[in-house]
Amino acid sequence: MVKTDIRNYLRIRPIEEGIVIDHLRPGTGLFILNLLNYEGLRVTPGLNYDTSKEIDGELLYDGKKDIMFIEGGELTSDHIGAISIVSPLAVINHIKESKVINKIASKDRIAEYATGEEYSGKLGVLEVPNSLGNILLCANPKCTTNKEGGDRCFEVIQKPTESLDLVVGCGYCEKEFYGDVIRFYTGQRLSDVGKTRYYLK
Ligand SMILES: [Zn+2]
Repeated sequence: MVKTDIRNYLRIRPIEEGIVIDHLRPGTGLFILNLLNYEGLRVTPGLNYDTSKEIDGELLYDGKKDIMFIEGGELTSDHIGAISIVSPLAVINHIKESKVINKIASKDRIAEYATGEEYSGKLGVLEVPNSLGNILLCANPKCTTNKEGGDRCFEVIQKPTESLDLVVGCGYCEKEFYGDVIRFYTGQRLSDVGKTRYYLK
């Protein structure tokens, strides 16, 4: 008789090719996952993992994060834009042949990676882009893009800060909308991910 060892179920195989989205603000991991097309891909979501910092050789646990492992996955610039809006301190790792070849992260983190000795791959800054595409839906029910479909494009009129909401303008009907009213193509709103304002310095 073959014995089933529970450890075989729990083992997570390291990703050889794909994406690891790390340091996601807790509560945003599944939201982001929902925006991605991961059909047929092996995905391991991690929610509320402890985050740690090493200070004077001691490991200190100082918070929580979500982390998504997506084997074989790729992100579009729109996906990266969505991550920059809901979780600006996230770190996107592109993995090839079991190595991180590209990291996209906030300016502060990029500065740490650039001066550290542990990482020597490509670096990119995670920031809210100047425009977003099909990832958003226009908030105007009369807009052509809501009535007849087709590709959408939105100009980012105001990038979010600690005190300012994100403001976008539809490229078709030119209506502007902001903050929690902003709706993603999945039907989820920014308000569905809790605190939507930036907490970058
Ligand atoms: Zn519109």
